[in-house]
Amino acid sequence: MANWQTFQQQLIDLESRSYRDYKSIKGDYEFPDFNLSVDYVQGDPFAAPSRIRLKIAQQVARFPTLWLTDYEAQIAIADYLTRQVAQVAQSLTKKRGSGKSGNIEISAPSQAILRRSAIWIETEGIEARLTVGLPAFGRRIAGKAAAALLCEDIPRLVERTLKFAALNEADLTRHIHTFQDAEALRRQLVPNGLVAFIAAGACLPRRSGIDERPLAEQADLFVPPAEASIVLETPHSGRIRGLGIRQGVTLIVGGGYHGKSTLLKAIEQGIYNHVPGDGRHQVVTDAGAFKLRAEDGRSVAGVDISPVIDHLPRGRQSDNFSTPNASGSTSQAAGLMEAIEAGATVIVIDEDTAATNFMIRDRKMQALIAPEKEPITPFVEKVRALYDDHGVSTIVVMGGSGDYFAVADTVIAMEDYQPQIVTEQAKAIAQADPQPRQSEGPFGNVTPRAVLPGSIPVGKGDRALKIKARQMVLMLGSEIIDLKAVEQLVETQQARAIALAIVYAQRHYFNGHLPLEAVLDNVMADIEQGGLDMLSPEIESGEARLSGNLAEFRRLELAATLNRLRSLKTVQIA
Ligand code: ADP
Ligand code: MG
Repeated sequence: MANWQTFQQQLIDLESRSYRDYKSIKGDYEFPDFNLSVDYVQGDPFAAPSRIRLKIAQQVARFPTLWLTDYEAQIAIADYLTRQVAQVAQSLTKKRGSGKSGNIEISAPSQAILRRSAIWIETEGIEARLTVGLPAFGRRIAGKAAAALLCEDIPRLVERTLKFAALNEADLTRHIHTFQDAEALRRQLVPNGLVAFIAAGACLPRRSGIDERPLAEQADLFVPPAEASIVLETPHSGRIRGLGIRQGVTLIVGGGYHGKSTLLKAIEQGIYNHVPGDGRHQVVTDAGAFKLRAEDGRSVAGVDISPVIDHLPRGRQSDNFSTPNASGSTSQAAGLMEAIEAGATVIVIDEDTAATNFMIRDRKMQALIAPEKEPITPFVEKVRALYDDHGVSTIVVMGGSGDYFAVADTVIAMEDYQPQIVTEQAKAIAQADPQPRQSEGPFGNVTPRAVLPGSIPVGKGDRALKIKARQMVLMLGSEIIDLKAVEQLVETQQARAIALAIVYAQRHYFNGHLPLEAVLDNVMADIEQGGLDMLSPEIESGEARLSGNLAEFRRLELAATLNRLRSLKTVQIA
């Protein structure tokens, strides 16, 4: 391995040469405190930036051993370091020529603490994956600038972010403890018969529709109602009181603009642990909770939606429903059945993004449209059976109709951003109804499907499939998958990892008869074992091209992405 002085000289010697000559710096270099690998060299200063990897041994980094053997602490530290590196990288970035010359970047994290491929820490050491824009003016290499970037700024970055002594220990400890507390809270949900927990004092509203940071001023902090308060234990913050949302059917009601959707959003995001100061860091939800919404225009591939939609016009099959262009109600019906197929344990629905005819149908409409002309059995007539037959709970926001009063186990009213339990009042109103709604009997079949392997895009010849992820739009070759309605995806890095997982599943498991559920089991187990890196296609073909831009995801989002692939074809398994 060449040492850093040789590397520095090599870069200086490239001054004014053609950009193409940068290819010669691919390789590993030894610095006093760490090793630097140049894994990929960009083609020109405007192209996707070059990829480097930094490895620093624990003898140098010196993180407390106690943390390095605790998987939860490892995730939290890696996440913390990623945020530190992102900050320092930004401060070290300066314009060093054309295009991206001089950029130093690491994939930016959201408010969620996730396992990502950008940084990992273990007992031996730390590995960080960054991108740099190799400096040039036009196509002329700026060699001295490259030497300054790679041999001065990168060591500075390592010095300030990857050594324990350089970090704010109290801050880092808080990051780890917040993560561990949230994990502990989530573990107590099932034993307590809960699907979600919102701690007293939580700050739920966000700064804006496009800014996930907490609303700083004017936010009313969450006050759990006395009747539904529950106390859970945490390892670092003692006993915490909060609103416990029970298994079964929960209805959230309240006047417009009183905070219903804000509460529901916090619940649906409670599948993730959040950074300290997020305001939702003690809001936790069952890891199998899935946000269901209408998404007209999406495609559907061979889903049995007959439990909720039957006898479609023109004799269209609803027990094996496919369309390139679903309606609001059929998209939501397919989404429901797909979520159950993929193992969802809780369904979360907001009236703001639901199809009204999927959710309810009032008596006047029943009088006008004959039952045989209405294919939809509204969800209100299925939601109980979904829990009773399949053990899947539901949390639904519905401010515009009282139809769910009769079927809800708990009714929460939001008033001035605060919850009250109004179950009894709602039940009394439902019972006073002269014509109570009849339940429709059993939920119906969830028919498993198998993916036809030929329906998944593959690379051309021996070239790997081109994958691009940008702002929740995924490109798999020429297939475009819109993921904006998959609301529990929070980082583009997750979408990219899912794309690789689909390619991986195509290579290893999709065979036209293995049920999708089993494929999801296998893929998730493989990732658990081999880490996100095992998704890199080049790992298999021998030429490792480790990506620093992947993040962990759930099987539910993997399934949701696959189900939105327009070329997807499935067969049902009897
Ligand atoms: P609803 O769904 O009941 O119509 P929203 O949840 O959309 O209401 O909230 C309406 C507005 O109130 C949003 O702008 C939201 O950010 C704000 N808001 C929600 N909860 C709080 C709170 N606890 N403190 C301050 N503002 C809040
Ligand atoms: Mg709303």
